[in-house]
Parts: sequence; structure tokens; C-alpha cells
Amino acid sequence: MVEEQKAFRLSRRLLLGAAVVGGAVLWGGNTVARLARGPSGPKNAGRIADIDGIALPLKPLANAPAYDPSLAWSAKGGDLNDASGLSRTPVYGVVEVSEEDHIAKALAFARANGLKVSLAAIRHSMGGHAFDDNALVLDLRKFNKVTVDAAARTMTVQPGARWHDIQNLLHPRFAVKAMQSTDIFSVGGSLSVNAHGMDHQAGSVAGSIRLMRVMLADGSVTTCSPTENNDLFRHVVGGYGLFGVVLEATLDIVDNTVYRTSREIIKSDDFPKFFAEVLEPNKDIGLFYGHLSTAPGNFLEDMIVYRYDKVADQPPAGQPAIGEPDGVGLKRVIINLAKWGSLFQELKWFTEKTLEPKFENCTVPRTSAMAEGEACLVTRNNPMHDSVPYLFNDLMDETDILHEYFIPRAAYVGFITEARKILRNQDLPVLNASVRIVHKEDVALTYAPEPAYSLVLYINQPTDADGSARMRALTRALIDVTIKHGGRFFLPYQLHYTAKELLASYPELPAFLAVKRQYDPTELFSSTFYRAIKALSGVA
Ligand SMILES: Cc1cc2nc3c(=O)[nH]c(=O)nc-3n(C[C@H](O)[C@H](O)[C@H](O)COP(=O)(O)OP(=O)(O)OC[C@H]3O[C@@H](n4cnc5c(N)ncnc54)[C@H](O)[C@@H]3O)c2cc1C
Repeated sequence: MVEEQKAFRLSRRLLLGAAVVGGAVLWGGNTVARLARGPSGPKNAGRIADIDGIALPLKPLANAPAYDPSLAWSAKGGDLNDASGLSRTPVYGVVEVSEEDHIAKALAFARANGLKVSLAAIRHSMGGHAFDDNALVLDLRKFNKVTVDAAARTMTVQPGARWHDIQNLLHPRFAVKAMQSTDIFSVGGSLSVNAHGMDHQAGSVAGSIRLMRVMLADGSVTTCSPTENNDLFRHVVGGYGLFGVVLEATLDIVDNTVYRTSREIIKSDDFPKFFAEVLEPNKDIGLFYGHLSTAPGNFLEDMIVYRYDKVADQPPAGQPAIGEPDGVGLKRVIINLAKWGSLFQELKWFTEKTLEPKFENCTVPRTSAMAEGEACLVTRNNPMHDSVPYLFNDLMDETDILHEYFIPRAAYVGFITEARKILRNQDLPVLNASVRIVHKEDVALTYAPEPAYSLVLYINQPTDADGSARMRALTRALIDVTIKHGGRFFLPYQLHYTAKELLASYPELPAFLAVKRQYDPTELFSSTFYRAIKALSGVA
């Protein structure tokens, strides 16, 4: 009897133990699967409805006009959101554009019916830049033809074309000269924010534009370039879609250079020295990326410098197609786990530092002509063809927000010291941090009136009101320290800044808005972002 009771207790314990282990395995498996999953749909978590206390939503139209049946409506009414998932906005309707004539007709319809027009591409901006309450939105993604003039080393692109598709078309002979550090954006969206990326010599997209054709608010079409109609050029580039619709841009293209990849770890504070002694004098370094640690042990202190040194102008014959990023699920899990705290942030840094180099994809075979020994060789199109699919997830109650702060070069160390302190003393997880190099940018609403370094941050938040309040406080603290060091913040992101911060960063804003009204007296082109910066600048 006693023996039987013992056996019963033992088997009950075994059963319990097995249930706990089984449960843990099941929970772990489910959790990993959840963290590894790509988006099942866009995030659509409501709207941050004010800027510096000024309400952004507008009343619905009292007498909405009937929809013109000759326009290609992909939505009549409904809401749009952007990559933040926190800009849900009711619009009048969305017209899908694939021909220039569609734009002219849509503008005429809007003018005749007193509607505002917003220009939208991939909608990766994060503060209602591509739509507005009650606006007629032009969806330009299918207005995307690309032609290449190999002799002139240019391409002429319609604005909906994505860098990703353009690269596939240019490869293996040519490559894009200037774009963001990832390839997911449209040309129109990139010109409108004067985007910049990994080519620290080429600088921003402005420097690669030979000519643009632009449709103004009255439907007329004009051309502009750095040397022709320069005033319009300086306002359309970095003009957030407020001056006209870019119909076409002729952009420089460059050789699909072969690079030897290498990386080293430096102290973040030594970056200005590294730039002056290594990057700036060495014109063979074609691309550069400075990735900062976000692990608590060396938070924003250590930096992996990825560099790409030119070894040949073009790849050898038979270069394979560019290929897509691999290990997406695993990378997504590592990034998502990093939101869980110190241990996982350290794990992320460990994989970046030690494991990633072992899995590097060397796409160019070494030839005797290149004589590069054991080097890993890639073409320019390889590192620039990153669609970062691992950044996009299916975690619907949280979102990841981009920030960028431009700092005059001499102020970098002082700035990063203070930014580090601010970021350490708050609890939103910093998922990624990198440093870029930008030149003086001569456009009307410039983020770099002098040569600068920039700090790019990718920060996670819950999509609820508390998450947004914490992000707002953090954004303002980072903007304040940027301004203190003579810098500016990048405008494609969330509308968390105050009037004082906006005008301190962009003292030329009132002049920019005045020129907007010269080109567009009825303010046909609008967006939530436009109304926000206008309200903050005190313009009636
Ligand atoms: C994950 C991530 C990484 C990023 N990395 C970088 C980076 O490395 N470097 C960088 O500079 N930026 C970066 N950005 C910011 C990005 O460059 C901008 O948000 C860009 O505008 C997005 O392009 P889009 O095609 O999504 O444009 P949208 O968001 O659709 O539109 C952006 C603006 O362009 C205007 N616009 C669109 N088409 C036209 C047109 N044909 N004519 C006139 N105006 C037009 C819109 O009205 C709007 O104001 C990043 C953003 C995210 C989310």
C-alpha cells in the first residue's frame, strides 16, 4: 500500500514536471513564432491628434462633392495611416495614378471642388506627411517608369519608382548614386525629404538630380534643376510635397563598383577622429555605415564601422542578380527580443559583433585581377539593396519610430554624451542607433546648413496613449539637446515637437511657408504635417 502511494506521488510529480516543461516549450515556441512573424497587415493604431497642444483633426466636409467617375478611385472615403501606425486620418478619397494626365485631372477636380490634395507614395514618413483630413490623396506608387541612358550615365524616373526595383533594373552595370540606407522608399518620397544614406561622398539625393519636371498647383508643368529655376528646385527638394508634384526626375547613376568589405570597432567618441583621419582622406571608401551598440554595457559607446573600399569599377562578367536579405526570421526575433531588456540587448550586440561577420554574403568571386586574397567582395548594389524586412513585425500593440538628429561636426562628442544620458534614463527600448555623415545642404528647409554628423535612432513604443506620451517627452528632450549643440532634427517623423523647438531648428520656416503660398496661393497641396508646421510657426 505504502509502495503504491509512493509510486503514485512519483508519477504525479513526473506528470507535473512534464506539463511544466511542455508548457514552457509550447510558450517558448509560440513566443518565438510570434516574434519571428512578418506583418499580417499594416499597423493601424489610431492617431496622435495634436501638435504642441494644437488639435490636428478637422471636421468632416459639410458638402463633400460627388466622386468624378473619370478618376481611378482606389478608395472613396476611408482612413489612411503611415509607417508609425499612429497617424490614422480620414480622407476624401484616394486616386491611383499611373499616367501624368491622371494627376492633371485630379488637380483640376480638386481645384473645382475646393478639395486639398496630398501626395502619397510608400507612406514611410511618420507624421501625416502624405495625407490630410478630407484631402484627395494621389497614390503615386504605380507612376513608376524608369529609363536608363547609359551614355549620359543618368536615369529618368517617375516618382513612384522604388529604389529596390530601380536597383534590380540597373544591376549589374550601374548603381544608384544617392538614396537612403535602405531601399524601400519611392523616388518622390526621397526627393521630398532630401534623403541621405551610406555614400558619405555623394551626400544627399539633391546632389544627384540633373533635372526635375514638376506639376504646379494650377496644373502647369515646369522644369527645374540646380541651375535652372533654382528657387523652385530648392523648395521642391526637401519640400514635403507642398510645392508641386514631381512628375519625373533625371538622376545621376554610377558604376556598380566592387568593394572589399571590412569592419572595425571604435569608440563612438573617437568617430570625429576616425572621420578626419580615415574616411575623409580615403576617397576609395565608397560606402560607410556606423552602427552603435544599444547594449547597456556599452550603450552608444562602441561603434561598428562598416566600410566598403573600392577594388574595381565594375564586377566581372556573370555577376548574379542582387539577391534578398537572408536570415530574416532570426534577425527579426533578435530585434524583437531586444525590447525585453538588458540581457537580450547584450545578445543582440554579441551577434552583431561576432556572429554577423561569419555569415557575410560575398557576392563577387575574387579574380586574379582584383588580387584581394581572402577579402570579401561585394558590388555597390548589394549593401544598398537592403529592404530591412526584419524591421517589420506583426506585434500590433507596439510600433517602432525613427528619429534623426543632425549635429555640427565639432559638437558631436558633447551631443552624444548628453543624448546617451537622456536615452539611458528613460525606458523605451532603443532598437538601433547609427551615425551618418552629411554635407552642407543648400535647399530651402535644410537640415544641414553646415557639414554635420547625424544620430539615427529606432525606438520602440506601445501604441497606447502612455507610450506616445513617453515618446513625446523623449523626442523633445533629444530635440532640445540637439538645438543646444547647434543642430537640427529631421522632419519626416512624428509631430512631437513644440513651436519653439521647430522654429529654433528651422528659423527659415516662415520664409519657406511664404514661398509655398507664392507657388500655391490657394494651398491646394496640403498634409497634416503642413497644417502642423504652419500652425506652430504662427502663420494664419
Ligand atoms: C525604417 C526607416 C528608415 C529610414 N531611413 C532613412 C535614411 O536612411 N535616410 C533618410 O534620409 N531617410 C530615411 N527615412 C525617412 C524616409 O526617407 C522618408 O520618410 C521618405 O519620405 C519615405 O519615402 P516614401 O516613399 O515612403 O514617401 P511618403 O512617406 O509616401 O511621402 C513622403 C513625402 O514625400 C511627398 N511626396 C511623395 N511623392 C511625391 C511627389 N511625386 N512629388 C512631390 N512630393 C512627393 C509626400 O507628400 C510626403 O510629404 C527612413 C524612414 C523609415 C521609416
